[in-house]
Amino acid sequence: MSDNNVLQDVKSSGTQDLTASLCKDLSIALARFPRVRLGHLPTPLEPMDRLSALLGGPRIWVKRDDCTGLSSGGNKTRKLEFLMADAQAQGADTIITQGATQSNHARQTAAAAAKLGMACHILLEDRTGYEDTNYTLNGNVLMDRLHGAMVSGRSGGTDMNAEMETLAETLLSQGRAPYIIPGGGSNAIGALGYVNCARELAEQAIDRGLKIDALVHATGSSGTQAGLVAGLAAIQSDIHLLGIGVRAPQDKQEQMVYDLAVKTAQHLNAGVSIDRKAVRANCGYVGGGYGIPTDGMKAAVKLLAETEGLLFDPVYSGKGLDGLIDLVRKGHFGDMENIVFLHTGGSAALFGYPDAFDLQGYTE
Ligand SMILES: *Cc1c(COP(=O)(O)O)cnc(C)c1O
Repeated sequence: MSDNNVLQDVKSSGTQDLTASLCKDLSIALARFPRVRLGHLPTPLEPMDRLSALLGGPRIWVKRDDCTGLSSGGNKTRKLEFLMADAQAQGADTIITQGATQSNHARQTAAAAAKLGMACHILLEDRTGYEDTNYTLNGNVLMDRLHGAMVSGRSGGTDMNAEMETLAETLLSQGRAPYIIPGGGSNAIGALGYVNCARELAEQAIDRGLKIDALVHATGSSGTQAGLVAGLAAIQSDIHLLGIGVRAPQDKQEQMVYDLAVKTAQHLNAGVSIDRKAVRANCGYVGGGYGIPTDGMKAAVKLLAETEGLLFDPVYSGKGLDGLIDLVRKGHFGDMENIVFLHTGGSAALFGYPDAFDLQGYTE
């Protein structure tokens, strides 16, 4: 080993020591918040070797937040650990939340409420106009109801926050103690779950001697990305974080993420400041709109199912993957060596879209 290499090693182990100690500080800061354990954490970090070989670029890893364990898993579980604890601390006995018809957030919230012995009311907004009963009743909707939630639909464009407020008033007048969780669990409390995920991932990387260059994931109601932005800032990480949008245009998406990251950092109250430049969204893979399948999503979901044995979803992670794959092919990541795709879950929604994939391989 040349002296240069030795120096390099000393330097990188110095950085690792700093990251490790900042991760410890962040754990302590997070431990001040009430939290109920709902997820199987840490989630695994696995290489996707067949996908990496196929793309011929950087090594691609998957952070398995689809394996959080709560009702088939997903990214809302981490947020709900903090949100449900807050609900309990406030003496709530009933949870109200909202989402799109095939909301993964609604499903995980229904499961969390069931586990904690709370009632759960879910308002589902029809954002796609799909009338297929698989879409309206199977997948996540089936699971919401299995968990005992009261589910009711609203037409597209309804003011869902106003609907939740009205429902809360009705429940209050009936002597219940309702607690409203915003869509996607995305507020400064829920985003703490992804502040914690940033720490968890950084510690996993240290344990393996892995230098993560970029972290990519699907971004929607923005709590996941906002939490990651705040968490990565707290540990002074230079990981290139990129959200792939599933609904809003880029300006709006980045503004939402930035605003929530700032609020999350304030709530964390650990002296973390948010750099607007750390908030990056690519909204070029939304296609026809939220929840509307795209050809790129279909190809990405099929590719990962066939090459890695992994299931992604049509609304979020499939579009996120489409973005990741396309950007790798276009050389967006330059000479980066290790890219992590955060698998935010959602495969339960596949059962709401049984005809979206042009599937072969079945004979009577
Ligand atoms: C909710 C969700 C997202 C987006 O997370 P946000 O915190 O809402 O931005 C991504 N993937 C899946 C599968 C989801 O359910």
